[in-house]
Amino acid sequence: MSKETYIAEAEENILHTYNRFSLVIDHGEGVYLYDTDGKEYLDFAAGIAVQAFGYHNKEYGDALKAQIDKVMHTSNLYYNVPIIRAAERLAAASGMDRVFFTNSGTEAIEGAVKAAKKYAYTRDGHAGHEIIAMNHSFHGRTIGALSVTGNSHYREPFEPLMPGVKFADFNDLESVKALINGKTCAVILETVQGEGGIYPATEEFLKGVRALCDEHDILLILDEIQCGMGRTGEMFAWQHYGVKPDIMTSAKALGCGVPVGAFLMTESVAEKSLKPGDHGTTYGGNPFVGAAVDKVLEMMEREHITEHVKEIAPYLEKRLDELVDSYDFLTERRGLGLIQGVVSKKPVGQIAAEALKEGLIVITAGADVLRFVPPLIIEKKHVDEMTEKLKKVLERM
Ligand SMILES: *Cc1c(COP(=O)(O)O)cnc(C)c1O
Repeated sequence: MSKETYIAEAEENILHTYNRFSLVIDHGEGVYLYDTDGKEYLDFAAGIAVQAFGYHNKEYGDALKAQIDKVMHTSNLYYNVPIIRAAERLAAASGMDRVFFTNSGTEAIEGAVKAAKKYAYTRDGHAGHEIIAMNHSFHGRTIGALSVTGNSHYREPFEPLMPGVKFADFNDLESVKALINGKTCAVILETVQGEGGIYPATEEFLKGVRALCDEHDILLILDEIQCGMGRTGEMFAWQHYGVKPDIMTSAKALGCGVPVGAFLMTESVAEKSLKPGDHGTTYGGNPFVGAAVDKVLEMMEREHITEHVKEIAPYLEKRLDELVDSYDFLTERRGLGLIQGVVSKKPVGQIAAEALKEGLIVITAGADVLRFVPPLIIEKKHVDEMTEKLKKVLERM
């Protein structure tokens, strides 16, 4: 079938919640995707920071196939071996003590918010607590996650949202301090803001928020859904900063394509937090996703993925800096490891669309940022290929 026919069919039946690029993907191999016309694309988006190992990784695929042949789903009324292994690995990689598996990132945020509220409820003997979130944050599309997302465009049609959320400015410690009161139970932030435009937290800010939280018995929730799982050169971005959250969330590359998320907490939070009956999910942590998470973490550890990111990321930074130096309309590069953004005065949506013609997939973040979140396995030659392709697009702009 032709691309046009596929697209016409899609637009007939699928709810129009995305303005999609005119690209119908057929299959992937390594860091390349192929469309239904057989055209090749170098993928510097990785399914939005999901495909850490790229596409068609044999070891990962074999592990999933083996699990399908055993059992895909039971329920959370019983234990299953793959998720026990996955939980063990995730706890070891993060240093957190307790994990709850979800089906997506937004659902991990829902759980993290509930966990913080329950902790404060147990501690104080009453409900009615508040949360401090950040402007320009992104935590997901369900009502709870939207309530802590600092983007009025996403929020407005769905108001009133969850009450008791106040917004501070990212990397502005005083603005957080000013919002703390006796009701505050948690501060939630992305260690590196993703959708908002690729802003890494400054060390001063993150350490300062941690200290404020300690001082006032407030829980620090770090959203590592996009920046976690090795992307910054540490398994979790907060591990760069010498601070530890009380609650953290993961998703995206956690399953490398299998829909799975997680929220994790320390033992001292868990003791006062969610108990039987407080939270649940039918699919969450079933044997199939367990096999995926177990395998992803095993491969990341064995292949020292964070070391690879530390090696390759400075090269990506260098090549992106060269682009920023070469084109007047590119004003800045920001990022940490393999989550990078380049600020452009010319429309980034148009650049991303033109890049497709050159066989390059890049995405945008915020209104004016080109986002680079490639598979973690990229090599220098892929960075060179990306910059060559992008240059051709930038020349045309
Ligand atoms: C993608 C993302 C989410 C939401 O995850 P979904 O799986 O799309 O629900 C939440 N927080 C951050 C930082 C994200 O990047």
